[in-house]
Amino acid sequence: MSLDLSGIDRRSVLRSGLTGVAAIGMASVGGGVLRPVRAPAYAGVVGEEGPEVVLLGTCGGPVPGRRFHTSSALVFRDAVYLVDAGDGLAHQFAQAGLRFDDLRAHFITHLHSDHMAGYYSFYLLNWVASRHRMRPVEVFGPGRADGHGPPGHGDFPAGLPEVPGLPLVNPQLPTPGVVEITGYERQAAAYDVNIRLRDGLPEGRTPPEGLTPPLVEPHEVPLARQANFRDPCPQTPPVKVYEDDLVRVTAALVYHWPVFPAFAYRFDTEHGSVVFSGDTSPVANLYGLAHRADMLVNEAVYAPQILKDPGTPLDPVTRHVLSAHTQYADQPAIQDVPAHDGVGTVARKAEVGTLVLNHLLPGDGSVPDQVWTDAIRKVGYQGDVRIGNDLMRIPLSTVLRRAR
Ligand SMILES: [Zn+2]
Repeated sequence: MSLDLSGIDRRSVLRSGLTGVAAIGMASVGGGVLRPVRAPAYAGVVGEEGPEVVLLGTCGGPVPGRRFHTSSALVFRDAVYLVDAGDGLAHQFAQAGLRFDDLRAHFITHLHSDHMAGYYSFYLLNWVASRHRMRPVEVFGPGRADGHGPPGHGDFPAGLPEVPGLPLVNPQLPTPGVVEITGYERQAAAYDVNIRLRDGLPEGRTPPEGLTPPLVEPHEVPLARQANFRDPCPQTPPVKVYEDDLVRVTAALVYHWPVFPAFAYRFDTEHGSVVFSGDTSPVANLYGLAHRADMLVNEAVYAPQILKDPGTPLDPVTRHVLSAHTQYADQPAIQDVPAHDGVGTVARKAEVGTLVLNHLLPGDGSVPDQVWTDAIRKVGYQGDVRIGNDLMRIPLSTVLRRAR
């Protein structure tokens, strides 16, 4: 199956990959002439007509590396939306020239630490400087892993794999969701918040009446009734989780077991659509959510770095990486892990205009861009491809989009 390019709006591919706050925006005017575009509130903007994706961190996996862990921003007009909260989010958000006061909503794909370690620190470090925000930022993310499905038994709490003989952290609630995590974080930060309220704010700066800083309000993404830890990704239609005057955000359950729930998010605007896969093996729910999107930001794993010897029995981590992530190329069955589409096939089948790779594993830059790109082209994907890097900016106006 090949992609029909007749339905794609081919624009001049301009300066995607711009980094840093000094980047200067340019736009194409009839026949490819470039002219500067006036930058709005954030820096380094290209294109006025549609949303722009800013990759804030692109490293996959819970190990510190040369890139920041996964988080991304979607910038549209004067609004900023965040997806995930990898370590370094506060730093990268500032490096990208984004403003906390412009942040409207934040979407968490799943609760692995490489997507969450920068979550509360982002709010803790931004509320003091926030001058105009009068409302909390609404955060949408997974609820408790034990929220649905069979109860636990014996030494095996619901929502966790049954592995005998292991210690259990926080036994009264071993699988907190985004609401409970925010509560724990707020308690842990009590001293800092209390002292700054009394001795750390500029004169005249008080938090909005009735609100306790940091200004964050968590919500669980609604879960299909039939979904649970044992059946984590039943085929279900996307659900709407957020809407304002600029974007409509829908979520789909994806497969990242034993992490549950895990979500992909789709942003629809009047000027285009962007989907963030989160961590997942290729599943029908993602194909449905991403169908004919202008841009798919998808995780990618370079399996040869993970699977050094296909003959040896799979350890739990390797099994998880092979069965619950998306590989750089189509993956044959390996031992008891079934065959999966690779990321290029996902983009081709979903018929997306542009594929952006993030959450790269390994995240140390040791896999050349050409290796990722060659694997994607080999399976017939003909849209634009961007291999993500920290602080890469990708305006929709500069890449292949689906026709309206
Ligand atoms: Zn993960």
